[in-house]
Amino acid sequence: MQPKLIIHGGAGSSLQGKGGLVEVRQSLHAIAKEVYDLLLNGKSAKDAVISGCRLLENEPRFNAGTGSVLQSDGQVRMSASLMDGTRQSFSGAINVSRLKNPIELAEFLQTQSDRVLSDYGAAELLRELQIPPYNPLTDLRLKEWMEERKDNFQKKMAGVLAESEEAGRGTIGVVVLDRDGKLAAGTSTGGKGFERIGRVSDSAMPAGNYATIKAGVSCTGIGEDIIDECLAARIVVRVTDGLSLAEAMAKSIAECQENKRDLGAIALDATGAIAWGKTCDILVAAYHNGKEIGDTLEWGVKETVGSEA
Ligand code: ASP
Repeated sequence: MQPKLIIHGGAGSSLQGKGGLVEVRQSLHAIAKEVYDLLLNGKSAKDAVISGCRLLENEPRFNAGTGSVLQSDGQVRMSASLMDGTRQSFSGAINVSRLKNPIELAEFLQTQSDRVLSDYGAAELLRELQIPPYNPLTDLRLKEWMEERKDNFQKKMAGVLAESEEAGRGTIGVVVLDRDGKLAAGTSTGGKGFERIGRVSDSAMPAGNYATIKAGVSCTGIGEDIIDECLAARIVVRVTDGLSLAEAMAKSIAECQENKRDLGAIALDATGAIAWGKTCDILVAAYHNGKEIGDTLEWGVKETVGSEA
């Protein structure tokens, strides 16, 4: 089967500045190519998702791993999840600090009997696994937090795409169909930024990241909106019940618009169809359709859904 791949670096309100656009495109396309090459070499969907998430977490311009935003108390707490569609098995870590790649905790938890761990338990697991401590804080995020503190956190959330203060959220996600026709999805985030301690992101819930043998979805945007729509699971269930992926995306995004949600989603199904959707102004996503890499970076503000067979 022809492998397929779609990745995202978040959703938001604008992507200003040509320098910004060019750089974001370059980094997304390079990661899409690297992960696609792994798929061509026979890597499984699950392993390719982990590799893709790791690469995106290591890219400081995105709000996941290195470059994660700070919460209201000035600390980084990251969340990540992995869903192996073949086993229909979800695993994740919530509000974990001091590690480089939160997706690796989700990877370890895939085969455990306790598969979603939060802050204290996740920190204990890091020690148990002897994962070396790592500080994901970048100067930009610290500056952003210091600025916001002056105003006593008037903004609802951080502006998290390094190229533009206006650019919005930068959570990352990867959805893959491998050459055996297997699907997997992964999502990783530093959260909304400036949030209350203990707030739980959608990124480590089936609302934000979900996959079965039929389809896989990763979401980005305001976590509370994604949770209220249970968006990732909802799109997958619609495909399971007979809608095409493009129809499932369009119907779900139309409902999100009606409910005035602020979010985006990327998706793949077992036939190789690719789809993406948003209610926000921009979705930072790129895909490999088997022939070439495309992206949504210059997609119009009014456009809401797109797909490729
Ligand atoms: N969904 C993430 C959260 O609310 C944020 C994002 O996608 O940028 O934690």
